[in-house]
Amino acid sequence: MTAPAHAELRRAMIETARAMSRSGLTQGTSGNLGHRVAGGFLVTPSGMDYDRLVPGDIVMMRSDGSHEGRRLPSSEWRFHRDILDARSEVEVVLHAHSMFATTLACLGRDIPSFHYMVAVAGGETIRCAPYATFGTEALSRHAVAALAGRNACLLANHGMIALGPDLRSALKLALDVESLAAMYWRALQAGKPVLLDDSEMARVLKKFETYGKQPERRNG
Ligand SMILES: [Zn+2]
Repeated sequence: MTAPAHAELRRAMIETARAMSRSGLTQGTSGNLGHRVAGGFLVTPSGMDYDRLVPGDIVMMRSDGSHEGRRLPSSEWRFHRDILDARSEVEVVLHAHSMFATTLACLGRDIPSFHYMVAVAGGETIRCAPYATFGTEALSRHAVAALAGRNACLLANHGMIALGPDLRSALKLALDVESLAAMYWRALQAGKPVLLDDSEMARVLKKFETYGKQPERRNG
């Protein structure tokens, strides 16, 4: 059997999917991962344990919703496609039903500016998209809107989405959002969290433009 196209990328996706399980972002077969490639995107298959995945199980999809390969794509392929169509700078879409992000998503509210790190998702809040049935065009529309100007959002009564320019960044952002959700949930148990105002969040967002970016290494 010949190796499928993008074999290296498929292996990297499986590694990231396993890291999602190991880190507790996903339980069982919930969650999925998509990566842009020429002519469409690769997405994890529907309902398969990440531990059992091999490169040939990752599904190649085209913009028209057709797919190639021996597996069926994740039931959430539609928002992967629509987000990648709407956001040319995004390469990776990660979706999880992680515990705390989903707990907050079940309250149907945004994560407000209770901590400066909320800006890590790109804005002064992390929005919660309204509920729609999984796999539907309506959910996809809500997700794209909630992600406007952001790289992460919650999905009401469902979970979260994190985006990135590569697998590593998307995974890191998803873990950051999950930590923030856990902190916000705890703060809500203890009282009324104090929120940072818009001018402070604007300052933080400005600082984040250079945060974590080391200057390019020069020779020697
Ligand atoms: Zn889901």
